[in-house]
Amino acid sequence: MRVLGIEGTAWCASAALYDAETDSVLIESDPYEPDSGGIHPREAAEHMAEAIPEVVDRVLTAAEAEYGPDAVDAVAFSRGPGLGPCLRIVGTAARSLAGTLGVPLVGANHMVAHLEIGRHRSGFDNPVCLNASGANAHLLGYHDGRYRVLGETMDAGVGNAIDKFTRHVGWSHPGGPKVEAAAAEFAAGAAGAGDGEGSAGGEAAASAADLLDLPYVVKGMDFSFSGISSAANDAADGGVPVEEICFSLQEHVFAMLTEVSERALSLTGADELVLGGGVAQNDRLREMLAAMCEARGADFHAPEPRFLRDNAGMIAVLGAKMAAAGDAIPVPESAVDPNFRPDQVPVTWREGESV
Ligand code: ATP
Repeated sequence: MRVLGIEGTAWCASAALYDAETDSVLIESDPYEPDSGGIHPREAAEHMAEAIPEVVDRVLTAAEAEYGPDAVDAVAFSRGPGLGPCLRIVGTAARSLAGTLGVPLVGANHMVAHLEIGRHRSGFDNPVCLNASGANAHLLGYHDGRYRVLGETMDAGVGNAIDKFTRHVGWSHPGGPKVEAAAAEFAAGAAGAGDGEGSAGGEAAASAADLLDLPYVVKGMDFSFSGISSAANDAADGGVPVEEICFSLQEHVFAMLTEVSERALSLTGADELVLGGGVAQNDRLREMLAAMCEARGADFHAPEPRFLRDNAGMIAVLGAKMAAAGDAIPVPESAVDPNFRPDQVPVTWREGESV
């Protein structure tokens, strides 16, 4: 089975072809990069309208060159969650493409796709999943035919919380990679000041004494980031060096995510953790989660970066699993849903999985 996936929930216009026989994924993406500030929904939608036809065309051309005119067996698209104006463009493109090619249409939940790509790439059987993305942050575990939300942010998504601080200090979007680089610079300086040896040891080498006192809010397996974003902004206004804030921001936010992940593993009895979402590209987050898993004898997997940030590869892979399970949708029922939660999705593909 070969599935063409289309993704465009917010910033990344992306198309992909997944070939289940060879387990290979071709991804073509075109990101929206705001000139200033964060993601503007209207500008993002204008970008989607221009970029989706182009990325789809690139993937289809490559697919037909390799497999001939019947290269695609199904078209899968992100139905949500995401920005309504972007989702509607992606939905329209997917419906018309499925009709033109005469193949089934599959509507995928974007957050379930972030999870499933980790399960697929790791080969794990029944992991807990931490989705650490821009607009979302939650823990998912499978129970009785659905991915249940074990814990989640009570306000902002983790990437959005970090980006809110970087916008405040005037850095361009996306802020996450810049915070990672600045935090590493601070840690290297702290390590060098401590032992006179420079940067060896990275962030782990800086100690608790180097941490600013920022809000750390965890309630069971839920958590909150709005207080820490505001406190980081206040610290910058008060003249604290921005690298120092970045270091403390990362350490606090990622410690919160690591704590709730450990609690989810403990409460479910699971011994596998997968990580998904754009913030999962951060080395320090992966390092903290890997150390926690190692300490409790659990396995940890984070897919390679092209499957972590928004991408159509994960939509095509989930689309193939759904199509193999007969989980296609008629066009009249294929409306997009900006608030589509992962626990609304009946998981049809795990029993007798063939993809
Ligand atoms: P969602 O998947 O919830 O719809 P999204 O559309 O914003 O989120 P993602 O690609 O999952 O997209 O994540 C983008 C976020 O990842 C941005 O907030 C960005 O700052 C953050 N990010 C990217 N790289 C890093 C990094 N190295 N460290 C921390 N955050 C990062």
